[in-house]
Amino acid sequence: MMQFSQNCLVTCPSCFETFSVSGPSPSETPTEWDYDCEVCCRPMTIQFYLDEDTVVAETHSDQ
Ligand SMILES: [Zn+2]
Repeated sequence: MMQFSQNCLVTCPSCFETFSVSGPSPSETPTEWDYDCEVCCRPMTIQFYLDEDTVVAETHSDQ
């Protein structure tokens, strides 16, 4: 089975802009990344988990 990273759409919890990040490969999930928003640069936490064979990203505010 091929394992490859996927682009995940995330919504910033601070400015609510949506952008895509190059997520982890499915074998690396579930995992959690500290990430700075590419739009407003505020820190957030992105949780990646596997739904079927798709990596899903969920964002949380870091404050
Ligand atoms: Zn933002």
